[in-house]
Amino acid sequence: MVDVDTFFWWSDEQKEFAKKVAQFVEDNIEEAEYYFWKQKFPHSIVKKVAKEGFFGPGVPKKYGGLELGATGGCIAAEQLGRLYAVGHVFTVSMLAGLEQILRFGTEEQNRMWLPSIADGSEIGAVCISEPFAGSDAANIMTTATKDGDEWVLNGKKRMITAAGVADRYFIYAKTSDDPEDRKQYAHITSFVVKKGTPGFSLEKINPLMGFDNAPNGYLDFDNARIPDFNRVGEVGKGWAVMMAGLNFERLIGSAVLMGEVKEIIQFLFHYTKRRIQFNRPINRNTNIQFDIADIITRYKMAKLFSYHTAYQLDSGMEPMIEASIAKMMNTEYLVEITRKALQICGGDGLTKFYPLERVYREAKIGEIVAGTTEIQKLIIYRFSAMLPRWNVPIKFRWNDEVNAPLMSKRDSRFKGLEINEENLLKVIAHDYKINPGIYMTLDDVREDIGGSRVKIKQGIESLENQGLIVCHRDRSGKIGLVKATYKGLSKAFPKDYYRWFPAWYDEADKF
Ligand SMILES: Cc1cc2nc3c(=O)[nH]c(=O)nc-3n(C[C@H](O)[C@H](O)[C@H](O)COP(=O)(O)OP(=O)(O)OC[C@H]3O[C@@H](n4cnc5c(N)ncnc54)[C@H](O)[C@@H]3O)c2cc1C
Repeated sequence: MVDVDTFFWWSDEQKEFAKKVAQFVEDNIEEAEYYFWKQKFPHSIVKKVAKEGFFGPGVPKKYGGLELGATGGCIAAEQLGRLYAVGHVFTVSMLAGLEQILRFGTEEQNRMWLPSIADGSEIGAVCISEPFAGSDAANIMTTATKDGDEWVLNGKKRMITAAGVADRYFIYAKTSDDPEDRKQYAHITSFVVKKGTPGFSLEKINPLMGFDNAPNGYLDFDNARIPDFNRVGEVGKGWAVMMAGLNFERLIGSAVLMGEVKEIIQFLFHYTKRRIQFNRPINRNTNIQFDIADIITRYKMAKLFSYHTAYQLDSGMEPMIEASIAKMMNTEYLVEITRKALQICGGDGLTKFYPLERVYREAKIGEIVAGTTEIQKLIIYRFSAMLPRWNVPIKFRWNDEVNAPLMSKRDSRFKGLEINEENLLKVIAHDYKINPGIYMTLDDVREDIGGSRVKIKQGIESLENQGLIVCHRDRSGKIGLVKATYKGLSKAFPKDYYRWFPAWYDEADKF
């Protein structure tokens, strides 16, 4: 039996599943390599994957699946990732509606599509990207127009993994041109389109630097008609459907790469013990040991974080930030790991006869596919910025005894004073003594003095008009931040109030 890492929180079924898929992969590596060299899509292996039921981990048992959740999906993706094209096609097939149908599909749709996802009788593709819509996925131009009980699709999709070989295409199309809908992200609707639909064709296969024998292509919809039954979710709710799918996509897309790292680590131990330079195996060099240690560390961290995120998804959470972190971390790690691995193996690292150069190329793709690293960073920043835990005002209160500001929960010395211009100016000027370089928010001012927001705002506007403070306004013109000017500081307190010297500083040097 193969040796597989499992986590203590996995169910026995998930652990068994991991071993089963890992063994399958061991048994089929040679065939996957064969198809890589033949530059042919490995239909026969994909059929075997389907026969084993490995397409079913994310599908509930009542629809013919294994009900092993996102964790099961990641386990399969991680192991199958070692079979390259098979891993990629498995991954997109899982993304082509599984999460979306489970969350937004009707019971009839579940019964219609989920069994064919579970038994792998249909491969899926997910179609968001278009010539004008990459990172800006809301900018899709493919239209869906209602005509009786049917929808008529027109437009192009591009960069689609499994284009051509897939049977079921989960697409997003524009169903409204109303600028208000656009603002609310209510202009998109999602649909399932089957291969063979008249007017739906494969335009081209895109030659890429990686994904060697996994086809990636352009699709054309020319008055392609589909029944309203194929609409998933309500009209105009496609953005929510897409976002639900994307968390899972980012996670499973990063899981598929972890299998490749395992391959690299095994290869590095194998290679470095056998390569002799200066009369000793190169693994005796500390730098090489350290590099392999770094690679193993990253592999372990990526795995832990990914399966933790899968657990959150399986617990009904919406781990938007974590899914983006997993995607960014795994793909950046893989680029770094493969670059190091190539270096460790010298010229041999570059040969196509070994797996390193192939994984290096795939790693770079990972940083772009399913939302670039920059987009993951935007998501991580923007969603974190909304969380209360990162928005706790930090208060410093001046302590006369130690003559320094202390981080404190105490009320300010100005709390409860009457709200008038003089006291407001004192609050803002006093802040200069502690935070000379930053502004105060209106909430900070109110936290210090208390009382009515309206009165504070009026007082601040008046202080601004007199040039005693400066206000920083947001795009709508609303005052967001305030700070005392030189004139304001001078008016609020005598100069000595702001002076501060450490005890060791010589009196003679002060002026
Ligand atoms: C191998 C492969 C397989 C793919 N498979 C699929 C698939 O199956 N289905 C599918 O729908 N799509 C697929 N894609 C498309 C993929 O999702 C897009 O390539 C990706 O989202 C980036 O879009 P883009 O290539 O148009 O780059 P662009 O969006 O044009 O980005 C160009 C550069 O600008 C940066 N950028 C853009 N906007 C911002 C911003 N606001 N802030 C900072 N930087 C920004 C990007 O990070 C990037 O560096 C695949 C792509 C590849 C390479």
